[in-house]
Amino acid sequence: MKKSAAILTLAFSLTILNGFGQTLQNDIALVSLEPGFEFPHEEKSTAYSSGLLEEWIKDKKSAKAILGYTGEGRTVEAYYFPGSSDKKALVIGGMHGSELSSIEIAKQLVEVLSEGERPYYNVVIVPSLFPDNASKAMMRVTKQKDNIGRYTTEESVDPNRQMPQPGKAFSPKLPFDIYGRIIEKENQFLLQLIQDYSPSRIVNLHAIKDVTKAGIYADPRTDCDGYALGFSTDSSLAISMASLIESGGGKVPGNNLQQTPTALYYNDPETAPVGLFQKRNFLGSAMPNSRGYGASLGGWASTAVCDETGQRDAARLITVEFPGYQPSSAYKGEDRMACMLNVQLYVAAVSKIFLGENFIE
Ligand SMILES: [Zn+2]
Repeated sequence: MKKSAAILTLAFSLTILNGFGQTLQNDIALVSLEPGFEFPHEEKSTAYSSGLLEEWIKDKKSAKAILGYTGEGRTVEAYYFPGSSDKKALVIGGMHGSELSSIEIAKQLVEVLSEGERPYYNVVIVPSLFPDNASKAMMRVTKQKDNIGRYTTEESVDPNRQMPQPGKAFSPKLPFDIYGRIIEKENQFLLQLIQDYSPSRIVNLHAIKDVTKAGIYADPRTDCDGYALGFSTDSSLAISMASLIESGGGKVPGNNLQQTPTALYYNDPETAPVGLFQKRNFLGSAMPNSRGYGASLGGWASTAVCDETGQRDAARLITVEFPGYQPSSAYKGEDRMACMLNVQLYVAAVSKIFLGENFIE
């Protein structure tokens, strides 16, 4: 894998608001960290086991584990950073390997937290969930329009459409999705992690080709039978993150902040009032062999699980859709600066708003 470190740094003077109208900071250093960047292996990586999370949270020290190995022998890694509270958050990058900018955001977040910024939430970050697929995308990084690396094979189901039935626990012995298809290994690592860790909030980092749809979105939480628990604070959290990005000059057009702010993804069903049944979209995109159909992480994680084997509350689920698949290193000149700034602002939205003491569950 290509090893290129921070290739471009630019000190930037900027005033951004924290989503609540207060000024946060004036200096932002723009750093471009390529998706292929590998962090130096100073600390030893431990193989993941369910007891490890408890140890991490007790020790309150940053740590790292290998969740497992991919088909091509790459590691799927998870980083832990302690928070000042006992609350737990999870951040996932690269569920779609083609969305390299999402991996850049996740890796920069690891960098920011490694430098000592202490969040309110304890956080586990999986920067690149499908590293085999991302590696295919990296080989084609100059071809801006293609979607290489989204799917593992020509027949594979969309990685974000292979979750278990909402309301049901993930079972490593029966790792099947809502339509009875086997869940890919990388997603099994993730689902096991969520089941063991039980985060109260999750950010799933994605990127979108249609840049007019870029923004920060929330899934409506429900009980295990699918009845709505209320969307207002989920929406407020997403809008606060989007406001921070926009106030710094970043792009979140899908949130429509200047007219009617929204945290609802454009093709998701309307949110149901508290206590009423919440419709979910299991159809995704129309693709051959129904590979675009299934339960998304958003639908599964934001639904409570009441199975005896894996009870947990509904998690707040924020889906980040960064404008454009490419990492900042794929652009030149002013476009590159604009992308780097945007990445930095998306990172700040996660580290300062999402991981901060805001709308606590
Ligand atoms: Zn995606």
